[in-house]
Amino acid sequence: MATITADLNKCQGYANCVVTDPDTFDLDDDGKVVLVRARIADEDVAVADEAVRSCPAAALMLDSSRS
Ligand code: SF4
Repeated sequence: MATITADLNKCQGYANCVVTDPDTFDLDDDGKVVLVRARIADEDVAVADEAVRSCPAAALMLDSSRS
């Protein structure tokens, strides 16, 4: 299990995250990222991590520490 957080002040709406992992990320009408889900199951962490690293604005963080 991992947790995603998004910094809306950094998000520039490039949508790389949405293209890479549409099950986790979406964009709102203002072009800011929306988390469809914030908690990521183990089998989905790889693609979510790829989406986090695809963000040109470094607006996304993935915390894979167990809680
Ligand atoms: S890739 Fe980054 S800047 Fe682009 S929409 Fe996603 S969070 Fe925002």
